[in-house]
Amino acid sequence: MKIHRGTREIGGTCVELESAGKRILLDLGLPLAASDLASTPLPDVGGLGGGEDRPLAIILSHGHRDHWGLIPKASREIPLVMGRATESIMRAAADFVPEAIALDAVHYLEHARRMTIGPFSVVPRLVDHSGFDAYAMEIEADGKRLFYSGDLRAHGRKGSLFEALIDNPPRNIDIMLMEGSSLGRLSDDGTFPTEDALELTFADRFKNTAGMALVACSAQNIDRVVTAYRAAKRSGRTLIIDAYAAEILKATGQQSIPKPSTGWSNLAVYVPERQRRQLKARGIAPLVDTYRGFRLWPEQLAEQASRSVMLFRGWMMDDLDRANALSGASLFWSQWDGYLAEGTPGAALRAACEARRIPFEVVHTSGHASPRDLKRLAAAVAPKWLVPIHTFERHRFPRLFENVKLVDDGEWIEVGNEP
Ligand SMILES: [Zn+2]
Ligand SMILES: [Zn+2]
Repeated sequence: MKIHRGTREIGGTCVELESAGKRILLDLGLPLAASDLASTPLPDVGGLGGGEDRPLAIILSHGHRDHWGLIPKASREIPLVMGRATESIMRAAADFVPEAIALDAVHYLEHARRMTIGPFSVVPRLVDHSGFDAYAMEIEADGKRLFYSGDLRAHGRKGSLFEALIDNPPRNIDIMLMEGSSLGRLSDDGTFPTEDALELTFADRFKNTAGMALVACSAQNIDRVVTAYRAAKRSGRTLIIDAYAAEILKATGQQSIPKPSTGWSNLAVYVPERQRRQLKARGIAPLVDTYRGFRLWPEQLAEQASRSVMLFRGWMMDDLDRANALSGASLFWSQWDGYLAEGTPGAALRAACEARRIPFEVVHTSGHASPRDLKRLAAAVAPKWLVPIHTFERHRFPRLFENVKLVDDGEWIEVGNEP
């Protein structure tokens, strides 16, 4: 086993597993600090450019770019494995987001369904995470067992999956690669608010907003969109989404998730001017016909403002300015506050709100498990070695968890050689 990237950072995750001369990769992410794809090299994995010695497969734990972002640079000969909804969400996003791409999977990860790839036997476990359709994985080869946590948490809308993992953990694990995103961002005994708690906070804020409530979150954070939808409903408001969010929600393929189709109330679709032009340019303008009965038009925005919550991104401000729909509005930032740092689009949005005297408040919870929940997971799995990954604070691991083994990027580790 070799971690190419991730022993000292969040992002750029890539793990190579080798058995009997065959290899697979877990994730092939873009580093967070990468300025662009072109100037970011692939990790030093044999055959990533294709050819006889290419890996048998690349397995993507979920659809966050820090886990798949370098795939466009790898050979298309290498089969991809990912969740079914991950594939369809990425495909839907590719029509809207410049850096998004559609990837084709040859196999789908399915919860608890064993899959064999050469000498590797993989059992995926669906987990709770801010990215939809995310998996942890048990991987066995040559009698050696590894468990990769992927990205996960316990306090989201699918928290029961975390409890199920703890109640029925993978057994006899030689090496567990466990993410530690929250280390250093939250105290060792701190807790993150649950999505349920966030729903109540949002509902309270919406009730106390005179005009339109703007929620700035990623449309791909499905848990958060559902939280905003439920809070809107609780406060007697309608959630307004754009075509991008509508397509992402449809792509989840989940009946329980709101979307502009029969049976869903308190939901409307507004197609911003810029998006309308974009859809036309791409020749997919007829897409919007599928939202019939849910459409909201520019001239309705001002009148509907006090009864609405909008899933919002900075560039939509023009539409609301033009429609005079911002009187009494409030903005709720529902993403990591790192995206508000100087020079970011988040900072520009905050400034745009200040200029219009729109109150700006952060209402957010993490997509990653607290140190406390990670402790519960580590204790349940009780691996022979626990190897930190997806963390900027690996030095905190030995104090928090048992049997921690610190490894370096690029170092080959023999699985099953534990003391
Ligand atoms: Zn993630
Ligand atoms: Zn990640």
